[in-house]
Amino acid sequence: MNETAAARAERAIEIYDQLEKRYPQARCALDYESPFQLLVATILAAQCTDKKVNEVTPTLFRFYPDPLAFAEGKTGAIEEWIRPCGTYRNKTKSIQGACRMLLAKHDGEVPVDLDDLVELPGVGRKTANVVRGCAFGVPGIATDTHVLRISKLLGLTENDKPEKVEADLAEILPEDRWTRYCHLVQFLGRHCCKARNPDCETCVLNDGLCPSAFTVGKNAKTIEAPAKAGAKKAAGKKTAKKRAAKKKAAKKKAAAKKRSAKKAPAKKKAASAKSAKRGRAKKKASRAAKA
Ligand code: SF4
Repeated sequence: MNETAAARAERAIEIYDQLEKRYPQARCALDYESPFQLLVATILAAQCTDKKVNEVTPTLFRFYPDPLAFAEGKTGAIEEWIRPCGTYRNKTKSIQGACRMLLAKHDGEVPVDLDDLVELPGVGRKTANVVRGCAFGVPGIATDTHVLRISKLLGLTENDKPEKVEADLAEILPEDRWTRYCHLVQFLGRHCCKARNPDCETCVLNDGLCPSAFTVGKNAKTIEAPAKAGAKKAAGKKTAKKRAAKKKAAKKKAAAKKRSAKKAPAKKKAASAKSAKRGRAKKKASRAAKA
């Protein structure tokens, strides 16, 4: 997309404002009551739906309310509790490892500092930014699957790597909008711009703000349809032509057969006349010989 940095930044703000108007209820989809609970919930949310995590965490936090409880808990028992979230062995290992580090280095408290957070087992930049943005109110861009995919569709980045996308967005969005932008885009991704089927028809960004509008998912079909229909029509014409040629050849063959069938009795008649003539000549010769 040919656009100056200033124009892109202006468009990003307009996108933000439109989404804010459309989804004022957008918020972090994970349920939590403390930075620690959000940290654990975010680790559990990797390759799992927020809904499933929210089903698991209330009971989990009743049995394991703090880092000490997790650190001293039996690994097998924790694994069973978080099994529904998938990759439960790795997640248990990460949570217990993070809890032990929190106890050893941070007095059992979740640090605010990005470098301290990403040092914890199972915590990458995305998780760290979720915790900082939602639990501590520190602006952060959490480049989850929705933010990555939709920011690219919106032409706000050309990159695929989370850190590069984060940097691109940080450059065009004011800092105080970073966290909220992610919530708004996540909401858009869940309710309208779905990965397999973006619903551009009902999207508030379809009128000039999104360069991908009506070009992806089911919307792409409406654009491709005439081309496909044309190809189908051409293929149909070809088949009809072939069928007509076949029909013509069959007709020709049938006519030839008919003609030869007509000629056959005449040939037969001529042959039998010839043989009768030969018979008569033979008889005549034998009579002459006898005489
Ligand atoms: S217009 Fe379509 S592709 Fe663009 S953000 Fe909206 S739903 Fe997604």
